[in-house]
Amino acid sequence: MRIAMIGSGYVGLVSGACFAHFGHDVVCVDKDAGKIDRLRAGQMPIYEPGLDTLVEENSKAGRLSFTTNLADAVGDADAVFIAVGTPTRRGDGHADLTYVYAAAAEIARSIRGYTVVVTKSTVPVGTGREVARIVGETQPAAAFDVASNPEFLREGAAIEDFMKPDRVVIGVESDRARDVMSTIYRPLNLIQTPMVFTNIETAEVTKYAGNAFLATKISFINEIADLCERVGADVHDVARGIGLDGRIGRKFLHPGPGFGGSCFPKDTLALAYTAREANAPQTIVEQVIEVNNTRKKKMAQKVVDFCGGSVAGLTVGVLGLTFKADTDDMRDAPALDIVPALQAAGAKIVAFDPEGMDEAGKVLKDITFTKTAYEATTDADVLVVITEWHEFRGLDPRRIKQAMRRPRIVDLRNIFDPEEMRELGFAYEGVGRPKPRS
Ligand code: NAD
Repeated sequence: MRIAMIGSGYVGLVSGACFAHFGHDVVCVDKDAGKIDRLRAGQMPIYEPGLDTLVEENSKAGRLSFTTNLADAVGDADAVFIAVGTPTRRGDGHADLTYVYAAAAEIARSIRGYTVVVTKSTVPVGTGREVARIVGETQPAAAFDVASNPEFLREGAAIEDFMKPDRVVIGVESDRARDVMSTIYRPLNLIQTPMVFTNIETAEVTKYAGNAFLATKISFINEIADLCERVGADVHDVARGIGLDGRIGRKFLHPGPGFGGSCFPKDTLALAYTAREANAPQTIVEQVIEVNNTRKKKMAQKVVDFCGGSVAGLTVGVLGLTFKADTDDMRDAPALDIVPALQAAGAKIVAFDPEGMDEAGKVLKDITFTKTAYEATTDADVLVVITEWHEFRGLDPRRIKQAMRRPRIVDLRNIFDPEEMRELGFAYEGVGRPKPRS
C-alpha cells in the first residue's frame, strides 16, 4: 500500500516508520520544513527510543521518505493518514481542530484515484463526518472514504506499542475502505492482534473513553495515596493488593505528581466538553480533571511543607522535568506547575533531565541545568524527583548525600526505598508511603 502521513510529530513519524517497516511505501509530510530537513539528514526531531534506527533502516530500504509537499504525497496514496496536533482550544477546553480541517482541505485538493482519508489524530466524535464533508465539498469529484483509526501508542514505548498493539480500532463504513485498512494492518494478523471494526463515531469515542479511563485510574490511586499518607498505609502495597485482581489490573496504579503529557490533560478536557455539548455530562471525568489540576499545584506545597514551611533562599535540586520517562515531551508536565511555584516561593532551581532539557529550557525560566544527575544534587538543600527516569533509580544515595548541603529528598515518583534512605540519614518523603513513627 502507498501511504501518506500528514504530520510527522510523535504519532505521525512513529506510525509512518512502523508502516514502512510493515512493508508499505510511506511518505511522511510535515509543513515544518526544518523538521523535514532534519529527518532527511537522518536526525530525529523528537526523542523516542529506537526511532532513529527504524527510520534509517526503512529510509535506506526506499520505503520511507519525507517531504513538505503534501500534494505529491497524497496524489499517489491509497490511504492518507491525518496525524496533526489537536491541542486544547483556548478558553473552552474543546479540541482545536483547525489543523485537522486545514489538512483535510489540502488533502481534498490533491486526491487523484480512490483514497481512504484516515484520522489518526485524537479527534472528538463527529470530526470524521466533518472531514468527509470538507473533502467532498472541496473536490466533489474525489473518490474517497473516510476512516477513523485512533492511535494508542505511548511515548517512550511507541514503537513496541505500534508493532505489538493490544488492539487496533478502525471505524469504517464501506467495504472498500475496510479492505484498504485491513491490508495496511495485515502484518499484525501474524501476532493475532484483535482488530475492532466499528462505525466512525464509535472509533472516535473509544479513543477518548480509553484515555479518560486511564486518567481516572491515575487520579484514583493518587487520592488513595493521599489517604495512605494520613493513616500510615503504603500505597504500593495497596496498588499491588488491588491490582492483582484481574478485574482491576496492575497498570496505571502508580502514584505520582499527577498526570501530564500531550494526551490525558487535553483529551479529558475535550471529552468533558463534547459530552456537555451532547447533554451527557461526564461527571467522573470532570472530577478527574479537577483532582489532577489541584494535585499538580499541591506538589510544590508538599516540598515547602517538607522543608519546614519555606524554601526561600534554598537551592532545590530537581531530577526529571519531562511528563514521564523516556520522552523529551514537556507538554503539560507536572514540572511546569511545580518548578515555577517553588521559584515563586524563593527557591533556586538546579535541574537535570536526560532528554528533556532543551524542551524544558523553552518553557521554564531561570533554571540552572546540569550535565549529570549528580551535579543537580550538589549543594542542594532539598532534592525533588519529578520524573521516574530509569537512570535515577541507579544513583548512589551515599554519593547524593555527600554532595547535598542537606540530605533531604522529596520523591514524587517513589523511585527510592524510604527505609534505606532514612537509614542512610536522609530526611525522605515519597508519595503515599507511611511516615516514620515518632
Ligand atoms: P505533534 O505536535 O508532535 O505533531 C504534529 C505535527 O503535525 C507537527 O509536526 C506539525 O508541524 C504537523 N502539521 C500540522 N498541520 C500540518 C499540515 N497541514 N500538513 C503537514 N503537517 C502538519 O503531535 P503528536 O503528539 O504527534 O499528536 C498528533 C495527534 O495524535 C494528536 O491528535 C494527539 O492527541 C494524538 N496522539 C498523540 C499521542 C502521543 O503520545 N503524542 C498518542 C496517541 C495519539
